Order: sequence, then C-alpha cells, then structure tokens
Amino acid sequence: MKKQFIPYSSQHITDEDIQAVIETLKSDYLTQGPKIAEFENAFAKYIGSSYAVSVANGTAALHLCALALDVKEGDKVITSPITFAASANCVRYCGGEIVFGDIDLQTYLLDVNSVKSLLESSPSGTYKGIIPIDFGGRAVNLEVFRELADEYNLWIIEDACHAPGGYFTNSDNQKQNCGNGNYAELAVFSFHPVKHIASGEGGMITTNDERLYKKLLQLRTHGIVKSDKDFTNSIEFAGGEESYPGWYMEMQLLGFNYRLTDFQAALGLSQLGRADEGLIKRRSIAKTYEDAFNGQSYIKGQSGVIEGHAYHLYILEVEDRLGLYNYLRQNNIFSQIHYIPCHLMPYYRQFGWKEGDRLHSEKYYKHCLSLPMYPTLSYEEQEFVINKVKEFYNEVRNK
Ligand SMILES: *Cc1c(COP(=O)(O)O)cnc(C)c1O
Repeated sequence: MKKQFIPYSSQHITDEDIQAVIETLKSDYLTQGPKIAEFENAFAKYIGSSYAVSVANGTAALHLCALALDVKEGDKVITSPITFAASANCVRYCGGEIVFGDIDLQTYLLDVNSVKSLLESSPSGTYKGIIPIDFGGRAVNLEVFRELADEYNLWIIEDACHAPGGYFTNSDNQKQNCGNGNYAELAVFSFHPVKHIASGEGGMITTNDERLYKKLLQLRTHGIVKSDKDFTNSIEFAGGEESYPGWYMEMQLLGFNYRLTDFQAALGLSQLGRADEGLIKRRSIAKTYEDAFNGQSYIKGQSGVIEGHAYHLYILEVEDRLGLYNYLRQNNIFSQIHYIPCHLMPYYRQFGWKEGDRLHSEKYYKHCLSLPMYPTLSYEEQEFVINKVKEFYNEVRNK
C-alpha cells in the first residue's frame, strides 16, 4: 500500500520478516526461548562485541546500564543536550544527577572539550561517567573520550541507538564499530521502528566485560539467579539435602522484567540480515541530499557525506526552518526536529538549567531539520522532497 505521506523515517518489513515471526508464534516459546540467544549472538557478531543482552526497548537498555554501573543518588554524569531524553533520564531513574556538556557545531556530537572543562572545574571524584551519543548515526571518536575517562576514573555508556553499523577510525587507523566495547564499558541500541533494525519495541546492550554482562542478565529478569554456584542461602534452608532442589532460585538484586519476546527477537534477527543493505541505501540517500544542497545560500550547515556515518538522520541547518517545515508538511512530507535541547525540557529546567547555558546546542536547535531518511525511500520520493525544499526557497519565499 502506498503511504499517504513521506515520514522522516520508516521501518522496512519483508515477507521473510513476517515468515520468521509466524514461525516463532507457532513454536513452543513466545518468550524466554531460543530466538533470544540467537539474536544476541548474531548481534554481537555484527557489532564486534563479546556479549549482547537483548531488552524490552532502548530506554530499558539505558536504565539497566546505569544500574549495572551502580549509579546512585548524588552521582554526576555528563551527556549531550542534543539527544533523545532517555540518554539523560536513565541516570535520573537511579537518583543520579545529569550535567549537560555542549555539542561541537561541525559534528553535532558531544564536544570532548566541553566535557574536559566540566571535569577540570570540579574537585576530582565529582563525576562518575559520560554518556556520548552517536548522534544521527555519526560515530563518536571514543578513543579520545576513553583517554579523558581514564584520567578522571569515569565509565562510558555509548548511546549507539542511531548507529548500528557506524564506525570511527582510531589513531592506529583501525575501524572501530559503534558499540564494539573496545572503549566504552557498555553500549545501547534501540529497535524502535524509526531506527535501523526494527522489532516493534526492543533494545540491546553490548559489552566486552563479563562481570557487567552477567549482572545485566540478572537485572533484566528481576535480579534472579538460577545456578547453584550463585546461591547465597544454605542448601538446608532451600529444602535440599546434598544439593539445592530443582525448583530453587534466588532474587539477589532489585531487577526488572525488561525481557524481549521471542517473536520480537525473530523479527530483529531477520532484519539484522539486511542491515548492511540498508546502510548502503542510507549512504546513497545522504550523497544525493548532499549533492542537491551543497552550496545553496539557504543552507547554514548539513550532515555531509562522512565515512563511517550510519545515517539514521540526514540533518540540514536552514534559514526559516519553521517556514520550510510547514511547507513540506503541506506537501505531505513530514520532516522532524532532532532534538529540542534536553536541558531546556521543563523537567530539566527544575534543576536550574536555563536558556544560554549551552550555546552551541541552542544555536543548532534554531535551524536544524531532519529530512526523510530510510532504506525504502524511493529515488522519486527523494527527488520530490529535494524539489519541494528548492521550491520553497527559490519560489515560495520570494513571492
Ligand atoms: C530511540 C532512542 C533511545 C530510546 O530507545 P527506545 O527503544 O525508544 O526506548 C535512546 N537514545 C536515543 C539516542 C534514541 O534515539
């Protein structure tokens, strides 16, 4: 069925995806079955991490990361204002405090220098961690963040929700995939339909740290352990004689039910098989936008064609952003804004954040607009979008 409008992002569901879900629905397991481990193993392999833990959504992934790293009341953590609120909220769920850095206006990513100034201007031990975001699909250079984190004894959670398949090149000239665990303790991904890989709702945590991996598995399912070697109560208490009885389990941590279902895992797994194909299409769409708008007087900035960029978003900074947004909307093109600076959300204003606190982020917000970007966007649809943008600046606004 043809869409009534062109969204900024959209999932791509094939007959094979549907078949994979149907097979799982007919199997013995709707949840806690074999598709979970299958998806996790395939995902870890794709990203290049040692471990992957699937969860109910990207926000649950962030929450579990904060819990696994023991974020507590009063702990301070630094993130970017230009992100989906969940990147910051996960620290608040644990009673910690969020301190926003600022973005680099060239890359739109958390500026390592803004983080450095925060760290330098506080007594040592003030901060516990950093949450950089591979915003829009552009990979953060985690090597430089790692150096800083080591100097100040901080952990890193990489929010890679926009960037499965993205990478940066390190100082040894080696490609480092987003979420591969070489620089960050933990990384998170989302499988919401606007993201690269869709499972309806869904998320994944990747890591190379075995201790964190085990803790995440436990936290994902109520903090329960089921293996004899992990028990702390006595065999006698448990009701056994020589060993623990078959039914015995222990809840040792205050965990949650953040599990993914097997039919979601089946969908994610099937989608993962086409992830590289999708990336190629995204990069080609980015190139077409780049060529179309490069050098136009109404463009104040654009995503550019960047090696290793996973292109979750294609962002323009434009004159008269409101006018363009409304004109595109009249033409059934639903562009979007990523993001309203998080520190100026009413929830975060209550902690004292106000306009003027993070100038780069606020300046970026005034002009940014995300154009349609998804693998099934046809060449004709993209031409239509490009023509409407040009029409707005060359004809409509000049009348
Ligand atoms: C989508 C997203 C999340 C949250 O993922 P959900 O699956 O929607 O909970 C977190 N961070 C970023 C940067 C995201 O884009």
